[in-house]
Amino acid sequence: LKDNYDVIIIGSGGAGLTSAIQAYELGLSPVILEKMDKLGGNTTRASSGMNAAETFVQLNHKIVDSFADFYNETFVGGGKMNNPELLKFFTEHGALAIDWLDQHDIKLDDLTITGGMKTMRTHRPSSLAPIGGYLVTELLKYIAKYQIPLFDNIKVTDLLTDNDQIVGVKAFSNREIKIQAKAVVLATGGFGAGKDLLAQYRSDLLNLRTTNQPGATGDGLKLAQKVGAKLVDMDQVQVHPTVQQDTPHAFLIGEAVRGEGAILVNNSGQRFVNELDTRKNVTQAIDDLGGTGAYLIFDQSIRNRVKAIEFYDHIGLVETGQTLSALAETIKVDINSLQSTVNNWNQAVKIKNDQDFGRKTGMERDISEAPFFAIHIAPAVHYTMGGVAINHQTQVLDEANQPIAGLFAAGEVAGGLHGNNRIGGNSIAETVVFGRQAGQQVYKYLKG
Ligand code: ADP
Repeated sequence: LKDNYDVIIIGSGGAGLTSAIQAYELGLSPVILEKMDKLGGNTTRASSGMNAAETFVQLNHKIVDSFADFYNETFVGGGKMNNPELLKFFTEHGALAIDWLDQHDIKLDDLTITGGMKTMRTHRPSSLAPIGGYLVTELLKYIAKYQIPLFDNIKVTDLLTDNDQIVGVKAFSNREIKIQAKAVVLATGGFGAGKDLLAQYRSDLLNLRTTNQPGATGDGLKLAQKVGAKLVDMDQVQVHPTVQQDTPHAFLIGEAVRGEGAILVNNSGQRFVNELDTRKNVTQAIDDLGGTGAYLIFDQSIRNRVKAIEFYDHIGLVETGQTLSALAETIKVDINSLQSTVNNWNQAVKIKNDQDFGRKTGMERDISEAPFFAIHIAPAVHYTMGGVAINHQTQVLDEANQPIAGLFAAGEVAGGLHGNNRIGGNSIAETVVFGRQAGQQVYKYLKG
């Protein structure tokens, strides 16, 4: 560890790794500091994919999309509370981010769909593996190739300023250290595991489990606030509808399971919601069941489309039945009821018309190929939409909406993009789009 770099990047998730690679490729000398001993943050847990419109991948799949549709669907899904400046930049730069990843041998050649979207724009690896682990592994190859210094177990505790400019950080490993830099990128993620901030902004969620890694405690927000940054949308916390939590660890069951065709049923074996409505609405519908949770129901053909299910099964989260009745018996729901629910659903898939709940997506395949599967799920804290205020150049803003010189933020630490509900597939996209942007804007700030 040197005592001076061009730019210090705090956090080793998707946003931090991307911004470091981008800064390096522009000729800067970055360093990445990570407080945990495990790299990759919550990004490693991301499952569904990366949303982007007008990509070459979509055209390869004969899907003609538009920036405008991507913008509008995200805006409606976010309760029209999304920051329009950030949303415009985001939706118009996703395709470039997919190109950039492709140029770095990070191939997201398959497509799926998530709740609230009307078209297939969730890009994922053709291995159908969860995106997060794949992305972090591949980005780390470039960190290694470029020999970008990356240190774990170093926690940044303060930002250093001089004349209202960022000049470095104070950090703690075994002892307190000071590192100088002309710019700092906050890529510290959200506060989904930060009990104090949740207590402050959403005490009603304190009794819920979280899907987040233990380091997601909102440090970046506190660091930024101490140097005068504005925070936005802090009470907007996403509760993810489908989290298996009957074991000590809460496992998020990715939206792709529904995107590829799974349905949700209640304890009586009946559907109760459009499974691909937004996370906010699906969560509300499950809450309305009165605390029982619900079951995801799917078959072998759907399982084949989502690699992560093998892992869920391996660790005992999946119930299996050779027939639908056997499955119903195992999960103790009424056999006839489950049978007729699945029959009705299969009919809806056939005629592409879900009269019961108006679902329009994730209807490429029905539920008919044995064996049949169920996963018990319930909502858990997942993502914090709020965070530090930034503009589309990733500059952190103060209370007067003026940039704080030398301070940039990208990824979940930044607030405003998602409004009151993040769409599945938009967080990975955010880390790459705004991670690249942070790397570029730091370069412009230092050399431009
Ligand atoms: P994003 O998806 O926005 O990239 P992640 O959650 O994937 O966010 O990654 C954020 C990373 O930042 C995590 O690995 C987290 O442990 C790390 N981090 C958070 N606070 C600090 C801190 N004070 N010092 C160093 N690293 C931090």
